[in-house]
Amino acid sequence: SLTTNIHLLFVSFYRPTKERYKIIAEAKMFPSDRYLLETQARFHGFEPDDAIVEVQPREGERVVLEEDILAAVESNADELALVFFGGVNYFTGQLFDMQRLTRAAHEAGAVAGFDLAHAAGNVPLALHHWNVDFAAWCSYKYLNAGPGNVGAIFVHERHGKRFELPRFGGWWGHDKATRFQMESGFRPMEGAEGWQLSNAPILGMAATKASLDLFAEAGMPALREKSEKLTGYLEYTVDALADEFPDARISIITPRDPARRGCQISMDVAGRERRLFDDMVAAGVIADFREPCIIRMAPVPLYNSFEDVHVFGRLLQTLLAGGGA
Ligand SMILES: *Cc1c(COP(=O)(O)O)cnc(C)c1O
Repeated sequence: SLTTNIHLLFVSFYRPTKERYKIIAEAKMFPSDRYLLETQARFHGFEPDDAIVEVQPREGERVVLEEDILAAVESNADELALVFFGGVNYFTGQLFDMQRLTRAAHEAGAVAGFDLAHAAGNVPLALHHWNVDFAAWCSYKYLNAGPGNVGAIFVHERHGKRFELPRFGGWWGHDKATRFQMESGFRPMEGAEGWQLSNAPILGMAATKASLDLFAEAGMPALREKSEKLTGYLEYTVDALADEFPDARISIITPRDPARRGCQISMDVAGRERRLFDDMVAAGVIADFREPCIIRMAPVPLYNSFEDVHVFGRLLQTLLAGGGA
């Protein structure tokens, strides 16, 4: 799974020294990533508060400015070991320019890694072309393979034959040609396969394959095109309701630029309480709630329609007008 895979990738790619040990990461990380960074820092003998540099949104802003990330990379360059970001922030839906962050990390002499939990199956990815060092993702968010299903990793080709890289070995990462000779002496396979430990659960892999087949059939370019339109339509719907119900104090915290977000709109409904969300759920909407009153919605291009967004808008209008569902 995802967190396990990132820990294993850190064995190879987070190699801190007394001088270079800092990790630049996003504020409001998914908690698992935060725990991962804290425990990695401690494992290597560093204080998390010292080792982890979180880039915050500016006062009064909801999303992080990329220029602030680049400035943090530059000002920590001498001590920087790793830039580790989500590709798409799970909370706001902000999509980061991974090529730009990777270039900045490399210029600072650091490694660039990404957690693509909310990016895989959501936005187009060109990790090799962007020169990303490593990445990991799960198969059960946009990739629909079912909760807890098998995760996946990316290791850049230029690291794929660095057999001297420290790593934790297991038989499933051993050279296929001699794997079943069962001899001592770990020889990793070339590429990301060389980071595998165990053989994968077949039922989970079957569900993953069924999902990936659908993605291959639809194609990411077509999905992304529909995704931008569908998210744009949801944005328009929410904006119209914000105007119609000013007392609900609705504001969208997701970036407005379609190129800077995935298929997601997170709205702050500051003037209302959680009951609004509970009523949405009772009426059959599947969304996500965060304190104090932030509702995350993902109109997924593979199976959500424009009509779904329209019906959702009418429902939300009824709820905001106080008419119940
Ligand atoms: C969902 C998610 C996880 C969860 O990881 P598992 O180890 O697969 O449970 C970790 N990080 C991020 C950013 C996530 O969105």
